[in-house]
Amino acid sequence: MSVTVQQHKNFIGGEWVESDGGTMEVLNPSTGETIAEVQRSTEADVGRAVDAAKKALPDWLEKTPKDRMELLLKLADVLDENAEELAKLESVNVGKPMSIAVDEIPFSADNLRFFAGAARTLEGKAGAEYVEGYTSIIRREPLGIVAGITPWNYPLMMVVWKLGPALAGGNVQILKPAEQTPLTTLRFVELAQEVLPPGVLQVVTGDGVPVGDALVRSPDISLVSLTGDVETGKLIARNAADTLKRVHLELGGKAPMVVLDDADPEQVAEAIKIGGYWNSGQDCTASSRILVNQSIYDDVLDRAKAVVEAMKVADPADGDDVDMGPVISKDQQDRVLGFLERLDSTATVVTGGAALGDRGFFVKPTIVADVTQESEIVQREVFGPVVTMQRFASDDEAIAMANDVRYGLAASVFSQNVGRALNAARKLDFGTVWVNEHLFPLASEMPHGGFKESGYGKDMSLYSMEEYTRIKHVAVKLS
Ligand code: NAD
Repeated sequence: MSVTVQQHKNFIGGEWVESDGGTMEVLNPSTGETIAEVQRSTEADVGRAVDAAKKALPDWLEKTPKDRMELLLKLADVLDENAEELAKLESVNVGKPMSIAVDEIPFSADNLRFFAGAARTLEGKAGAEYVEGYTSIIRREPLGIVAGITPWNYPLMMVVWKLGPALAGGNVQILKPAEQTPLTTLRFVELAQEVLPPGVLQVVTGDGVPVGDALVRSPDISLVSLTGDVETGKLIARNAADTLKRVHLELGGKAPMVVLDDADPEQVAEAIKIGGYWNSGQDCTASSRILVNQSIYDDVLDRAKAVVEAMKVADPADGDDVDMGPVISKDQQDRVLGFLERLDSTATVVTGGAALGDRGFFVKPTIVADVTQESEIVQREVFGPVVTMQRFASDDEAIAMANDVRYGLAASVFSQNVGRALNAARKLDFGTVWVNEHLFPLASEMPHGGFKESGYGKDMSLYSMEEYTRIKHVAVKLS
């Protein structure tokens, strides 16, 4: 059956605009087939979007928090009303099972509703006389034009995490979706054009360089928020230094799941299935390192192997019971398999360890045991359906091993003893710590963001408003 290849343009200044850079293909990773063509934009396209944003800004700055709330609520309704279409598009473009894609839309709508409310909570904390004869006022202001650069693993959800606080804070935004997965971003913005004035939310598709790079270097843009790889984050932080713009970085992770000796092995095995293989393990908070007390290690490993081997790995189009789809691309498949080819001689592949089938970009869900703490597969983000298992003898040893990576995004601890679990949560050097759970829950009210080389700044929650607003002191002479 031949696939209809959809053509897409950039959305600039309220219009669909072609780039003179030509087009690039977008694939279905389950089949390797081309499903769409989008603009391979240039620096000049970014310049056009910046000009349109400058034009839109003065009117947008006149909107009250109530106005912005109402628009964000309408955007949330747009997500709900088009949930099925958006979920299907995300499933085809990312290769994620429908069960996952369907889950993401209501949560994204909830996120926008949270930020609709957040728009009305913004305040400065003064309005008094601190020097005789003067009244000081603190204004919390929008930054102006902000950019959102997003990754391919949760394309629409990451856009929503960035546009909620951006618009709530009174900014206009230019989005640069990942090369591989621009389709739901383009469709959402198409739907949003009924709600937002031209130039308030724009999309320019294309490669990291030149498109993302031009956003980072633009003197007219006040903030770049990236969700992406650690190395991309470092590069962006360096390049943004030339204009001293703000940078918000949600980067990679290498989350440990710390299983103490009193944990329930069955609960842990189920949590490994979700934590390690949700979205094909292409999750910055995936439980890629399972650390288990030696007294229950064999039991946990046996149960995890059984659970993982029972997973249905297939094209999400094969049915609602698919647990795991492909990874995003041939490059990503090669990258994941490369880690498995370079394993230390001590390591044992307990299950998986290879590509699956000859169509699309599948990797078998994999467990690797007997790895050493210093090995590459423990120290570097794989970003695929691969978890490692390590044993420890004491809680302190587990915490030391868990913290001994350059990342600091998320971690979990499993124990029946609340005191031991809380003590571990206190000592784990990660931006999120789950107890007796991994990956969920996410709540719009709660911050998401890392420590160490996982970046800085927060998505979601009122804390994210700090990234997207600035504080001004106004001092008024009283006579
Ligand atoms: P990536 O860093 O390769 O790309 C992310 C985005 O940055 C893309 O849109 C890309 O085009 C753009 N980009 C690349 N080079 C650029 C440059 N020089 N200047 C400006 N923009 C540039 O990441 P990816 O492979 O798309 O996504 C996977 C990564 O994202 C993983 O490391 C994962 O852990 C991370 N991630 C983090 C979070 C989080 O919340 N911390 C969430 C999801 C994904």
